[in-house]
Amino acid sequence: MNGLEEYRGKRDFRKTAEPQDSGPGGSDEPIWVVQEHDASTRHFDFRLQVGDVLRSWAVPKGPSTSPRDKRLAVPTEDHPLGYAGFEGVIPEDEYGGGSVAVWDRGTYRNLRAEKEGDGASMEESLADGKAEVWLEGEKISGGYTLVRMQTGNEERWLLIKQDDDEADARRKPARTEPESVLSGRTVEEIAAEEGPDAEGADDEETDA
Ligand code: MN
Repeated sequence: MNGLEEYRGKRDFRKTAEPQDSGPGGSDEPIWVVQEHDASTRHFDFRLQVGDVLRSWAVPKGPSTSPRDKRLAVPTEDHPLGYAGFEGVIPEDEYGGGSVAVWDRGTYRNLRAEKEGDGASMEESLADGKAEVWLEGEKISGGYTLVRMQTGNEERWLLIKQDDDEADARRKPARTEPESVLSGRTVEEIAAEEGPDAEGADDEETDA
């Protein structure tokens, strides 16, 4: 599914601070982001700019730097480009309620587009069920393959690090480097500072 109708339909923008529209565009190169999301089930969300939306997958264990790991990636609805900068707390009774940290982000290149005899666009690659990207980020970088394993209602993909100079089986950044690249905070710290139990969270209402 493409477009933001599903995204908007799931959210009440009077209650959540998540962006409604795409917001300002960024660099000439397409962007990617991984957000850690401490929702009912804690997971990471991997998002790639394709056209004017962020195609999205929930990755329970987050991206690995080891080519031996095959990380489950479950497609979710497209998100607006502005979501790449979203960090904060989604109210508990709202869709995706919980805190979100921008775990890593940057720009990427479509490796299939650069291959002689292939040249597939990102749209074609994702329709084919195999995309290859070169990520430039702070915590993770290098080649990653997204491959579709199962179609239909239970569509399932795998996210796999390619075996290149950026591969490192010893690092476990999804576990050992939890700090946001935007604010240096973990999802717990974001919840403590911005959630309903945050100090001062009720004062505004009392004063109003
Ligand atoms: Mn999520």
